[in-house]
Amino acid sequence: MSVKNIDRLKKVMRSHLCNRCGTCVGLSEGRIVFTDRTGDYRPVVQSEIPDALADTLWEACPGKHFDFPRYRSVFYGQTPNFHEFIGPFYQIGIGYAHNSETRLRAASGGIISAILIWLLQKNLIDGAVVLNMSEQEPWLTQAVIATTAEEILAAAQSKYIISSVNELLPEMQAFKGRLAYVGLPGQVHQTFNKTLVMCAFDFVVLGNVKMCHAVPMGFNIAVSPRIAVLVVCFPVFH
Ligand code: SF4
Repeated sequence: MSVKNIDRLKKVMRSHLCNRCGTCVGLSEGRIVFTDRTGDYRPVVQSEIPDALADTLWEACPGKHFDFPRYRSVFYGQTPNFHEFIGPFYQIGIGYAHNSETRLRAASGGIISAILIWLLQKNLIDGAVVLNMSEQEPWLTQAVIATTAEEILAAAQSKYIISSVNELLPEMQAFKGRLAYVGLPGQVHQTFNKTLVMCAFDFVVLGNVKMCHAVPMGFNIAVSPRIAVLVVCFPVFH
């Protein structure tokens, strides 16, 4: 008897491979939820998942697999630059936000916040997926689509608790316009998986990923403290 993809997915959910990215929750149409956000913060299947949807969820789940060699060849081509901690790169620099308010309100110089605000002001994006704290439950994180500089600054600073940004995937798909996306590695890996398989969304298409900006900072709290990469990438909507 062949193993169904929903059973494969459940195995990842129960294992240390699950990074709580929120992808399966976001794409499940309410059938999968995080039941214990102040505890183990694991996705739990609440109602039956049709096979076709399970196939999509399994394909999208970044916990099961990530093709690092393919990622490297797509985003970094033949660059000879390689750092033992962060992998391949085109250029490494040090910087900070020139705007003093941005610099003071953000962390680590405010580069991500400054880039997002600049992109908005130049009309290169219409919104940015960023991580805020929940208004209703301020001890939890809440991913939002920020469309103003003030909303971007409101989400500034690192969040040293679990976040599941990809719960926002339906809202990202419904958003009219171009989005920047800020996420931790496991969350970004989902968008890359989808870029390659194009299984559920058509908004992240390989040829239209305009830029991938990576800053080594932060921790992937959901798995274990380790060096992580915060990435901003710019998919273009059709
Ligand atoms: S999609 Fe994300 S949250 Fe769901 S099982 Fe996979 S790694 Fe965990």
